[in-house]
Amino acid sequence: MSPSRPEAGPVVVLVVEDEPAIATAVAHRMTAEGWRVEIASDGPSGVAAASRLDPDVVVLDVMLPGLDGLEVCRRIQRDRPVPVIMLTARDDETDMLVGLGVGADDYMTKPFSMRELVARTKALLRRVERATQLAEQAPALPALEVGDVVIDRAQRRVSRSGEVVHLTPTEFDLLVTLAQTPRTVLTRERLLAEVWDWVDASGTRTVDSHVKALRRKLGPDLIRTVHGVGYAFEPAGA
Ligand code: CA
Repeated sequence: MSPSRPEAGPVVVLVVEDEPAIATAVAHRMTAEGWRVEIASDGPSGVAAASRLDPDVVVLDVMLPGLDGLEVCRRIQRDRPVPVIMLTARDDETDMLVGLGVGADDYMTKPFSMRELVARTKALLRRVERATQLAEQAPALPALEVGDVVIDRAQRRVSRSGEVVHLTPTEFDLLVTLAQTPRTVLTRERLLAEVWDWVDASGTRTVDSHVKALRRKLGPDLIRTVHGVGYAFEPAGA
């Protein structure tokens, strides 16, 4: 699990973006929040900077020279689950990434407002903070066991039929939220509020994308879609 960041230090954000105008605008806006911002303008230097800086959040463009955002995301999350907000050019690109279960925590389609990016970054930081606090209360949290799925909230680990499954922090939080009330339909709006701490018009697709990623990693038979409403955790045989 990622350690909580030192209370005294500023939030460190790594922006991996090859369009100088966007990178500069993001850096300017985030620096105004009191955050320390570094920019990398291609994939390989983004991976290197992530390893050197140990950032609290990475804002990651998809189309990058050298290595694309998908590969950068995989590499920077190899050692620890770094929170990632991915910038895409089109909505259908977001859908594609989500289908692949790339492991970003949130997606924003260009053009986006800097204000919204900052709000979503803050929401992501709050979630990471909350997850760290929960991990510190570890002994008080029993594992959730539903069918052959075991969710260890203390270690933030998930296994199915004894096989460990690696989830991003957001995927984990979504799974726990669903699994705490098995066979209960939770609306997308409620999931957004509880898991993402953030509500906006485009947010429900973020929920859909993370459900797709959970199905890809844990199997298609755990989470039921209730069309037009939301999702329910209903493992087969449980
Ligand atoms: Ca680009």
